[in-house]
Amino acid sequence: MQIESGVSLKPYNTFGLPAVAHTLVRIASDADVRRVVDDPKLGRASKFILGGGSNIILTRDMPQVVLKIEVPGMRIVEERADAWIVEAGAGENWHDFVAYTLEQGCFGLENLALIPGTVGGAPVQNIGAYGVELKDRFESLDAVDLVTGRSVTLRAPICRFGYRDSEFKHSLAGRSVITRVRFRLPRPWQPVLGYLDLQRRIADTGITAPDARRLFDWVCAIRRAKLPDPAALGNAGSFFKNPVVTPEQCRDIIGRDPEIVHYPLPDGTVKLAAGWMIDACGWKGKSVGQAAVYEKQALVLVNRGAAIGSEVMTLARAIQESVYGRFGIRLEPEPVVV
Ligand SMILES: Cc1cc2nc3c(=O)[nH]c(=O)nc-3n(C[C@H](O)[C@H](O)[C@H](O)COP(=O)(O)OP(=O)(O)OC[C@H]3O[C@@H](n4cnc5c(N)ncnc54)[C@H](O)[C@@H]3O)c2cc1C
Repeated sequence: MQIESGVSLKPYNTFGLPAVAHTLVRIASDADVRRVVDDPKLGRASKFILGGGSNIILTRDMPQVVLKIEVPGMRIVEERADAWIVEAGAGENWHDFVAYTLEQGCFGLENLALIPGTVGGAPVQNIGAYGVELKDRFESLDAVDLVTGRSVTLRAPICRFGYRDSEFKHSLAGRSVITRVRFRLPRPWQPVLGYLDLQRRIADTGITAPDARRLFDWVCAIRRAKLPDPAALGNAGSFFKNPVVTPEQCRDIIGRDPEIVHYPLPDGTVKLAAGWMIDACGWKGKSVGQAAVYEKQALVLVNRGAAIGSEVMTLARAIQESVYGRFGIRLEPEPVVV
């Protein structure tokens, strides 16, 4: 366990927002978490768990003790007839882990390539992309309770995964430190190719049965073309969740805005494209101070250089109000606002 004081968090959040952690503790194991819990001063202090900082908006300095999760390790745990069980430490970079699984010949995470952040941060919002969600490949995770110091292994029902959601955003938020995650990668492997962008690749290349490596390369190329690289332009990916509405609400909106982009879901509800709604309200390229709506994709807010958290949140609220005014839909931010 390594303790530091007065640490700038600017390099530790992909939006590049300025904030200082009064105390930052680097966590490399379950035992480190227990040391924090047992420490007379640290144990009592309120805490914030930090992964790769790719899904947070920092609006102020942090009086809480920041636990920066750096638990290492990647390994194949078990080879079953119907699946590989693969495990990674919560501090591992998510994309590096996806690449590792492919190198080992264990397929199934390729649609989730290039999502920033850590392995431990991934279950918190049940990351998803190109037709696959973390919950589709999840086996179990290890976590340490910040009150009792006890280590537990949790399976999917306790994690309560939902669309960009899990119990780690609710009753377990700030309470449970995820230290390791295990994935079940099914054998034989079946590619997930339903997404429009992937169908376009199939049409363009004539490759109707891509292998996992090619699918990984396609997903990386599609993402690089669509999303700003946080190293070049600070951002937190999609800033708002795509709202899910009833068929009646959707019909009502289509009556007024026939072109609205929407996707019917298996349960009868309909997902609306938040980016389309923001664009329809004329937000692309608009800014508040140094916080702006990305010119190429209205769902992404970016840092033009020296943005501060309050500018990002002022811009976000203005977008919410105008989308509500036109569509009657309240957009919900995807990142955690701190
Ligand atoms: C360019 C870009 C593209 C993105 N694309 C996608 C996408 O396609 N799909 C998608 O779902 N998301 C996407 N995201 C969002 C983000 O990458 C993911 O949500 C990622 O999993 C966050 O992980 P993190 O380690 O950075 O978490 P952080 O941002 O550090 O933390 C996020 C939340 O998780 C908690 N947390 C982090 N680590 C732990 C832990 N070990 N134990 C307990 N709680 C923890 C934090 O306290 C915080 O509440 C994108 C972000 C960017 C910048």
